[in-house]
Amino acid sequence: MDDVVSLCARRGFIWQSSEIYGGINGFWDYGPLGVELKNNLKALWWRRVVREREDVEGLDSSIIAHPRTWEASGHVEHFSDPLVDCRACKKRMRADQLDDAGPCPARQGSSEHDWTPARHFNLMLKTFVGAQEDQAATAFLRAETCQSIFLDFKRVRESARQRIPFGIAQIGKAFRNEINPRNFTFRSREFEQGELEFFVHPGERERWFAHWLEQRLAFHRELGFGDDVLRVRPHRPDELAHYAKAAADLEFLFPFGWQEIEGVHDRGEWDLARHSEFSGKDLSVTDEETKERYRPMVIETSVGIDRTCLALLCNGYAEEALEDGETRIVLRLPPALAPVQAAVLPLSKKLAEPARALAATLRRRLAVFYDEAGNIGRRYRRQDEVGTPFCVTYDFDSEADGKVTVRERDSMAQERVPVEGLLSHLRDRLEGGL
Ligand code: ATP
Repeated sequence: MDDVVSLCARRGFIWQSSEIYGGINGFWDYGPLGVELKNNLKALWWRRVVREREDVEGLDSSIIAHPRTWEASGHVEHFSDPLVDCRACKKRMRADQLDDAGPCPARQGSSEHDWTPARHFNLMLKTFVGAQEDQAATAFLRAETCQSIFLDFKRVRESARQRIPFGIAQIGKAFRNEINPRNFTFRSREFEQGELEFFVHPGERERWFAHWLEQRLAFHRELGFGDDVLRVRPHRPDELAHYAKAAADLEFLFPFGWQEIEGVHDRGEWDLARHSEFSGKDLSVTDEETKERYRPMVIETSVGIDRTCLALLCNGYAEEALEDGETRIVLRLPPALAPVQAAVLPLSKKLAEPARALAATLRRRLAVFYDEAGNIGRRYRRQDEVGTPFCVTYDFDSEADGKVTVRERDSMAQERVPVEGLLSHLRDRLEGGL
């Protein structure tokens, strides 16, 4: 894990927010390479969940919703973790994670902490809307992106002329005042989710739950997660929310253990029923054929974008012994998600002009990095470390034969490819990889 964290900061993927002030716990900045990786992941999710389906519509709702939203959803009352403090060293922990607290540095003759009884701590972050900082103006930063999907259910269904079964999806920021943010970006206070709420007839909920669980599993397999690092963990009946009929976590094997990266939930009619009750608006639908009036049930898939980025980085990271006795760090990201898809490297600075021209052509369709500094081996290593699937080397023969050398990241195999047709060659290989 330390190696991944260090690579992320060194090469500009992710580092602590507000670093020059000593950082702020639970908040992270994605640098030049990190933002590309994250955007590519979000785009793939959007393609698979929204674009490629007739029965899913997209949404981008505001982060702050009417405060009644969070009363209806149950978050004001129930969205809390049990919190304890050590009376001696003042350490604050989640009561269900005390194994991670370590010894108490402040007690005489004992390394045990002196915990207070647990009390509830609401995880929603508050803010004030408008000029008056009083009760009436208090609002919450959303703790999950899905609630606005329920608020907008009727509007989306009518404007997009959808019929049950159909879904609404969105990607966006969510905020939770986590008691112990930890494990790098895994548990943050500000993070992104990709959520789908799929509305179905009550008689079809099992079928759609199974469908979406399978779809989401296939998505993570597409990211390169094999059975050795990816598993489904169905919730036990006593873990289920009182309104839920079924739920499963998709878990990834991080260096710190198996942890949830996505949840698939059958939420029943809870959300639409509650928002109907609190808003006074009828959120049921009529089946045009049978004239049956009913409230749809909801199957939800909720993936952490940051957790999935972290899983990609952990899964891709490798240190490899080479034949010449050297070691290389290589980040085996799925080619289509790599922040840099092709690096253009002139063998000598004297070849900068044609090499730059080639980079400019490729840049129209690919994420391209141009580098002419240092020896070629070092330049390859730098690209391996950030997961660049292809290095394109422009050498002294290129002028004469119109070809360049394309080196592939994982196998390090090299082949001569004509400059004409290089773009489609690279694009075919990139798409073939995902
Ligand atoms: P956990 O039990 O780990 O706190 P959760 O069960 O509360 O997670 P959900 O409410 O189901 O999580 O949220 C859906 C997804 O959002 C999670 O699978 C995870 O990927 C992501 N997520 C939730 N909390 C955080 C967080 N603090 N930091 C980063 N991602 C998060």
